[in-house]
Amino acid sequence: MKAIRRFTVRAVLPENLSALEEIAGNLRWSWHEPTKELFARISPELWQQVEHDPIALLGSVDPARLAELAGDQGYVDWATHIRDDLRAYIHDPRWYQSLGADAPASIAYFSPEFGIAAALPQYSGGLGILAGDHLKAASDLGVPLVGVGLFYRSGYFSQAITPDGWQLESYPVLDPDGLPLSVLRNPDGTPVQITLALPDGVLHARVWQAAVGRVRLLLLDTDIPENEERLRSVTDRLYGGGGEHRLLQELLLGIGGVRAVKAWTELTGAPQAEVFHTNEGHAGFLGLERISDLIGDGLTFDEALQIVRAGTVFTTHTPVPAGIDRFDRPLVQRYFSTSLLPGVEPDQVLALGAEDYPGGSPDVFNMAVMGLRLGQHANGVSRLHGEVSRQMFGGLYPGFDSNQVPIDSVTNGVHAPTWTDPMLRALALERLGTDDTTHADWGNAGAVSDLDLWGVRNRMREQLVRDARRRLQAAWEEQNPGGIAPAWMSDLLDPNVLTIGFARRVPTYKRLTLMLHDPERLRNILLNPERPVQFVIAGKSHPADDEGKRLIQKLVQFASEPEIRSRMVFLPDYDIGMAQLLYPGTDVWLNNPLRPLEACGTSGMKAALNGALNLSILDGWWNEFYDGENGWAIPSADAAGDGAERDALEAEAMYDLIEHQIAPRFYDRDADGVPAAWVGQIRHTLATLSSPLSAERMVREYVERLYVPAAGYEKRLTADDCLKARELAAWKGRVRAAWPGVNVAHVDAGGLDAVPQVGDELHVRALVHLGGLKPEDVQVQLVAGRSRDGDELVDLHFEPLTVDSGIPGADPSVAHEFTGAMRLTWAGSFGYTVRVVPVNDLLLSPAELGLVAVAG
Ligand SMILES: *Cc1c(COP(=O)(O)O)cnc(C)c1O
Repeated sequence: MKAIRRFTVRAVLPENLSALEEIAGNLRWSWHEPTKELFARISPELWQQVEHDPIALLGSVDPARLAELAGDQGYVDWATHIRDDLRAYIHDPRWYQSLGADAPASIAYFSPEFGIAAALPQYSGGLGILAGDHLKAASDLGVPLVGVGLFYRSGYFSQAITPDGWQLESYPVLDPDGLPLSVLRNPDGTPVQITLALPDGVLHARVWQAAVGRVRLLLLDTDIPENEERLRSVTDRLYGGGGEHRLLQELLLGIGGVRAVKAWTELTGAPQAEVFHTNEGHAGFLGLERISDLIGDGLTFDEALQIVRAGTVFTTHTPVPAGIDRFDRPLVQRYFSTSLLPGVEPDQVLALGAEDYPGGSPDVFNMAVMGLRLGQHANGVSRLHGEVSRQMFGGLYPGFDSNQVPIDSVTNGVHAPTWTDPMLRALALERLGTDDTTHADWGNAGAVSDLDLWGVRNRMREQLVRDARRRLQAAWEEQNPGGIAPAWMSDLLDPNVLTIGFARRVPTYKRLTLMLHDPERLRNILLNPERPVQFVIAGKSHPADDEGKRLIQKLVQFASEPEIRSRMVFLPDYDIGMAQLLYPGTDVWLNNPLRPLEACGTSGMKAALNGALNLSILDGWWNEFYDGENGWAIPSADAAGDGAERDALEAEAMYDLIEHQIAPRFYDRDADGVPAAWVGQIRHTLATLSSPLSAERMVREYVERLYVPAAGYEKRLTADDCLKARELAAWKGRVRAAWPGVNVAHVDAGGLDAVPQVGDELHVRALVHLGGLKPEDVQVQLVAGRSRDGDELVDLHFEPLTVDSGIPGADPSVAHEFTGAMRLTWAGSFGYTVRVVPVNDLLLSPAELGLVAVAG
C-alpha cells in the first residue's frame, strides 16, 4: 500500500544530548569529519543505511540507544565539544574579517541548484555542486554570503537502468521536515510568504532556510495550500518543464529570491546585500526586482539600471547554446504586463533580453544576454571559457575585438574538505601535521613515503570496488524483488587493476561513448593479460534527451558482455554520495568533451585532489593546468574534416595513451610493488594542484576581483542621493544620441624614415567629429598591432591621443584635432588605425556601451 502523504517525526533527544540536534541542523556535518564520526558512533550500521544523513539517523535510531548514550559521559562531552567547535566556527573572525571596510557587508548568491550533500538532492550536476562548494568555501573564509535558490519537491530525478540499458527516471517526493531545513517565520510564528503577481493569479511561496556553516541558504517553495493547484507545482522538479513552467521558476528565483533576501534581512537584522551574484543566467530577473525598488525610491529606469549593473556579478557557465535559457518574447511580455514589477514597463524588460545583433533571433528573450546587460561584472569559469565567452557574446559589443569584450574569467575550484577522501586527509594529518590537504607539503618524501601514498591509493581503489559491487547488487535486487544477485556480481572489478573513471551528465558534447569508438581495441585494452584496465562509469541523461539515453544504453550493453562485465561497470544514479568514493578510487580520471564546449569540468579537479591523474582533452580547467607530469592530454583534432573523423582521431589518441603510456607506467613496479614513476606523478599532482584547484582559491578570487569592486562601484553611484547614478544615466543617454555623429574624419602620420626601425616614433594627428560631445567624453586612441592578411590587426596596443587645445572655443561642429605618438617596439609587420570610444571612470571597460568609431 502506498501512503498518500508522508511526514517525518523527529526524535526527542535526551536533554544532555540536545547538542546533537544543533549539530545536525547545520550542514557543516557534510564536510566535517569529526562531526560525521560523532554520528557514526551512534550506530555504524544505521549510519551506512541512512547514507550519512544525521537527521535521518536521529529519526530512526532506537530511543534505547539514545538513552544509553545519554548515560555515557564520554559521548556527552564529545557531542558538547563538537557543538562548541561549531559555534566557534560560526562566530570567530576568519579571512574575510581581515579585509577592512571596502569589503561588502553582505553578498546574495543566486543559483537554480545547490549540491551540498547527498541528503539534500537539489542539484543535477556541475553547476549545482559548484554552487554548493561556493557556499562551503565562503563559510570557511568567513564571507558573508546568503544563498538563494528553489526547493524542488522531487529534486532532479533518480536513475535506474533496465537490464537492456535504458534509463528510467523516478521522482521520489522529498519531505522537507526530514531535511536539515527550517521555515523562515515572522515574529508571530507565521511562515514568511513571498508573493508574485501573475497575469491570472498570485504565486505564493514559503522560504526554507538551511545553515551551511556560517552561510544561510534560502530556498523558495510553492507547494503550499495558499496556491491554486497548478501553481503548487511550480517548484516540482529541477529542469523539469519547458517554456512557461521554466519561466515561472525563474521569475520566482530572481524576483521572489530578492524578496526573500529582503524579508530575511529584516527579520534577522543581517546587513543588506550589497552585491548580487547570479550563478548562470537563470536567476537574472533579480536585477529587475532591484530596479523596481529603486524606481520606487524615485529614480528613473535608466538611473536604477546603472546602480543595479554596478552591484551585479554574472557568471556564465556554458558555451553550449542549448544550455542558455531563451523564452518566447510574447510570453515574457505577458508576464511583465502586470503589477509584478511596479514602475517597470514590459518593453524595458524585453529590450534587456533582445538578441538585437547579427545572428540573433528577433523572436526570443535571451537570459544570458539580459545577464550581461544587468551585470557590469561578468565572468566565465576557466581561462579558455573566458575567451570562448568573449567570442560568443561579441555581438553585443560590435566593433570591438573579442579580447576587449568585458567578460573576465575565474576558474572554478572544488571544496577540498568535501571532496578529499578521509583516508588521504588522515595521512596528511599524521605525517604532515595538517588535514588541510591543499596546504600540506606533499613534496616532503621524508614524511610521506611513496609506499604511504601508494598504500592510501590502493585502499581508496578497494573502497570504490566494494561500493560499486554493493550498488550493482542493490540495483539488481531492486529490479528482481525477492531474488538473490548472481554470484559473479560479488566479484565485479578487481581492486588491483588500473582503474579509469568517467562520470558526468550525458549531453552529446561530453561524448560518453567515445571510448566505444573501436570496440575491439577497447576489449583488448580491458582484457590485456599483463596490464588489464577497468572502467567505472556513471552519469544521468536529461529525462527529455533520448539521444543521451541511447548513449548510456550502448555503453551498458557493451559492458554486459560476460567477458567484459568484470572490467567495465555502469553505476546507476550518479550523485554526490557516489562521487565521493568514485574520484578517490580511480587511478585515472577520463574526460573527452568536444573542445571547447566544456566550460571548466570540475570532476577532474576532485579526482586530482585525491591523487588521481587526469587523462583529458585540453579543454576547460585542464587546458590551463596540464603540465606534462600531472596526467595526459588527448590532442584535439580540431582540424579534422568532420565530426566522425574527429571522434576517430581523438579516440585513437586516447587508446594509444592508455596502451602505451598509462598502463605500462602503472604496472611498472619496484621491489615493494610500488610504481615509482606513477607515484611520482601522484605526489606532483597533490603538491602542485591541490591549492589552485580549491574552492577557497576560487572564492578569494571572486571576493577580490569581483565582489569588492562591485560593491565599490555601487557605493559610488548611490552616494549623495544617487548623484552619480543620475549623472551616468544622463551621460550614457547623451553619448548614445550623439554617437551617429562621431567619426574620424582624417588621419595624418609622420616622424618615420623611409625604412622605419625599432625605436623610431610614429606621430599621428587625427581630425575627429564629436557630434556635439565634449573631448573629455571620449578617448581617441592610436591602435597599433601586427597586421595580418586582410589588414586584420592582432596583438593590439593602444595609445591615447590628446586633444589639441590650440583651437580655443572651437565650434563643436568643426572637427577636433587629436595628436600623439607611439614608439615602434617590435620588428616586422606593423599596422595602425585610430578609433574613438566613450570614456567615463564609472565604466569598467570602453567596450561597455558597445560604441566605437574607427577611422576609414
Ligand atoms: C563534480 C560533479 C559533477 C560535475 O562534473 P563535471 O566534470 O563538471 O561534468 C556532476 N555530478 C556530480 C555528482 C559531481 O560531483
